Amino acid sequence: MNEFNFSNLKDKVCVITGGAGVIGTAMCESLAAVGIRLAIIDLNEELSRKLAENLSTKYHTKCLGLAANVLEKESLEAAKAIINEKLGEVDFLINGAGGNSPQATTAVEQMDEGDLDQLEKTFFGLQTVGFDKVFALNFTGTLLPSIVFARDMAERKEGVIINISSMNSYRPLTKIPAYSAAKASINNFTQWLSVHLAKVGVRVNAIAPGFFLTNQNRFLLTDEKTGEPTPRGLKIISSTPMGKYGEPEDLQGTLLFLLSDLSRFVTGVIIPVDGGYSAYGGV
Ligand code: NAD
Repeated sequence: MNEFNFSNLKDKVCVITGGAGVIGTAMCESLAAVGIRLAIIDLNEELSRKLAENLSTKYHTKCLGLAANVLEKESLEAAKAIINEKLGEVDFLINGAGGNSPQATTAVEQMDEGDLDQLEKTFFGLQTVGFDKVFALNFTGTLLPSIVFARDMAERKEGVIINISSMNSYRPLTKIPAYSAAKASINNFTQWLSVHLAKVGVRVNAIAPGFFLTNQNRFLLTDEKTGEPTPRGLKIISSTPMGKYGEPEDLQGTLLFLLSDLSRFVTGVIIPVDGGYSAYGGV
């Protein structure tokens, strides 16, 4: 028989990477609220420590803010040693660090004849350095923490990994070829790892958020000077049947469901939380 609440999550140990970011912060709030012990990993040590302190005080659960780089295995292993000592063995991992880079973004959505004189605005002006960065952060930045933190789970034959995908993983969005391909790789890896770890009791799923106005996409969706939505921002709203951007808090219910035993037979899925964007054909 299931427990129809999240009480069995209390005192579980969860590592969240990129936990001090916009979406990470909302996720951390819900995790702490149900009594999960949190290890908030982020490049930004000050933010992750402050968040951990605030959540510990507010929800009376142990929270640690740690600086670590998801691209450096040694730094993740050093963080794991501290987490194991201060919080216990790891039950859950949320791979939240990720994002796009302006260096892997074209200035125009579709190339036309006029752009032949200004190739720097098109696909032909992109540099591989931008692709390398975006692939590293999103793919390698999910792979390495999974290698480091899922070991505790496999050994105890119990655990959950949640990756963060995106709408662009299903069909690429214009302008952001590297980010789209990198998030597609997250869906594929989520399925692969779910199969690989199924018999050692570790479930692996992903959440694909729709459109949330955050630091990494603000430059594409709002005019820097006026704060008004760009044509791209307006297009997103009109392509989202619910007619608005998501709030980071909209991800909390799906997150807790995927961590809890209520989803104990769910593995290898990518759940869109998108106000209907992925269901809508535009007409
Ligand atoms: P954000 O930039 O606010 O947060 C990302 C956090 O990751 C930051 O705190 C940053 O310091 C940290 N980080 C970056 N590189 C790191 C590294 N190498 N090691 C450790 N930490 C690192 O971004 P966000 O909007 O909260 O996005 C979180 C996740 O959600 C990302 O995977 C993003 O791709 C995904 N996502 C966001 C949206 C959206 O609309 N914002 C939509 C779909 C998916």
